[in-house]
Amino acid sequence: MRSNRGDPLKADPSAQQRLLDLQELDSQLAQLAHRRRSLPEHSVLAELEEQRAALDARVRDLRIAADDTTAEHKRANADVEQVRARRERDQQRMDSGAIANPKDLERMQHELVSLSKRISDLEDIELEVMERLESVQEQLMAVSGELAEVETKIATATAARDQAFADIDGEVSDLNAKRGTVADELPADLLALYEKLREAKGGVGAAPLRARRCEGCSLELTASDLRAVAAAPADEVVRCEECQRILVRTAESGL
Ligand SMILES: [Zn+2]
Repeated sequence: MRSNRGDPLKADPSAQQRLLDLQELDSQLAQLAHRRRSLPEHSVLAELEEQRAALDARVRDLRIAADDTTAEHKRANADVEQVRARRERDQQRMDSGAIANPKDLERMQHELVSLSKRISDLEDIELEVMERLESVQEQLMAVSGELAEVETKIATATAARDQAFADIDGEVSDLNAKRGTVADELPADLLALYEKLREAKGGVGAAPLRARRCEGCSLELTASDLRAVAAAPADEVVRCEECQRILVRTAESGL
């Protein structure tokens, strides 16, 4: 066994058992951290944020289109008004009797007809612009409504996530308090070795030997390793030959 080489680390058997309690707490903390990272609300929120960004962009585009079309409608309306005013002036001049020459009168009549035709054309344009403006405004209302719905969903999912965070953080805080108590009971050198292994070994630094199996790597010890573990003094910190983790002997070790 590794622990038989050099100067093996010594720790009271009760401290070794306590190390398993610490490992259990650390495993629970790791599970909570994993649960915090993989809450379903994270993916729900990511999807909703994407929808919001797309709807935001559409609302912005439609606002620009609505502004442009409003300006276009004002211009079309002004065009109609301008020609109407001219027709009214001409009509008044004719009605006033100021134009006596029949040729001038005839020309004026023609102009009035042509102005009326022009007004009718411009009114058609104004109507067409008005219809486009109404359509853009309807779309803007609809998309703004969709955006508001998505924002409500985001608020709900955010509240659910924050509640889940608060629940998890409460558990983490309780476990950390227990962890502190257990860690304080352990000798510094044993704790340091455990922390180093836990860091390097996916969160598990110490494991019980149960039914001749290291529960860190799940491998069964060889007969010679078992003999070495059985022969090691109770206060010797033994290590799994396969995974290097601290191997804590228990009543069910099968030695
Ligand atoms: Zn192992």
